[in-house]
Amino acid sequence: MTKNKLNIWNPQTPWEISEKAWDEKSSILNKSHPLKILTSLPKMPGITEETAKGLQYKSIKYLLFEDPKHIFLHYFFKKPFKYAYHFIKSALKKRSYKRDKDFFLYGIDSVETFQTELKKENRLLVVGFSYCHKPYECPSGRFSAECQRDLDNPVCAQCFIGKATHALPLFKGNIQPLFIPTIHYIGEELFKLKEKHPDKTLLFLITACEMTLEMFGNWGNMIQAKGIGVRLDGRICNTMKAFELSEKGIKPGLTVVLPETQQRILQLIKTLWE
Ligand code: SF4
Repeated sequence: MTKNKLNIWNPQTPWEISEKAWDEKSSILNKSHPLKILTSLPKMPGITEETAKGLQYKSIKYLLFEDPKHIFLHYFFKKPFKYAYHFIKSALKKRSYKRDKDFFLYGIDSVETFQTELKKENRLLVVGFSYCHKPYECPSGRFSAECQRDLDNPVCAQCFIGKATHALPLFKGNIQPLFIPTIHYIGEELFKLKEKHPDKTLLFLITACEMTLEMFGNWGNMIQAKGIGVRLDGRICNTMKAFELSEKGIKPGLTVVLPETQQRILQLIKTLWE
C-alpha cells in the first residue's frame, strides 16, 4: 500500500501535468540518487532453440510438479470439463496469442479491442509486474509480492513500476495491481479473483519474459482471462534453467520494459481515466 496520501495522478489534474511532474522529479533524483541500470541491452533470443523444443510439455510439467501447494490441480478440479475444454481449444491453435510488437494479445484481436473491453461494465483489470524489472535498490525487495511505491523514496520515484502504479485510477475499485514473484503466485491470484468475482470478466496487463508469455498462454486462455502480456527486454530468462532459478528468486540480471513499450502501457492506463 502506498504511504503517500497525495497522489501525483488525481481526478483534478490533467494527465499530462501529472506525468510531467513525475518525470521531472524522477530526472532530478536520477542525478542525486542514480540507480544501477543496464548500460546496454544484451542481444538475446527470447527463447533458446533447445528450450523451445517441447515448451508446452515443459510448462505443464513445471506447473504441476513444481507446485508444493497443488494450486493448479486444486482450482482445475473445481471446473475440470470447462477448463480442459478451453485449455485444449487454446493448445490446438498454432499460437495462444497474437503479437503486436512487445504486446502479446490473449483473447483479443487488437489493443483497440482491449480498450473497448476496459470500458465495459463488470470488468476487473489486473495490472501485474514481474519482479525481475524491479530496481536492484527496491525498498520492498525484488523477489517479493510487495511494492510500497513510496513517493518520498528516491528509488520508487525513478521506478517504472512506481510510475505506472501511481498512474492507475485505483479509486475506481475495479483495478488490482499485483507484483509477481512466481508463476504459481500469479496463477493463484487470478484463480482467486475469478472465484471472488464470478460476475466479472477478468482482464489483464502483465509484464513477463517472452518465454513465460509463450509457456503459460494456454493457461490464461483456459480461465478465459483476456488481456495483454508485455514482453520484457534486458537480462530475460530464455532457458528453463534460468526460469527455474528466477522462480526461486535467483535473478542477478535486470529486465526492462523498453521506452516505447512503457509509453504504450501508460497510454492504456490513461484510457482508464476516461
Ligand atoms: S515502486 Fe518500484 S522501487 Fe518502489 S517498491 Fe515498488 S517496485 Fe520497488
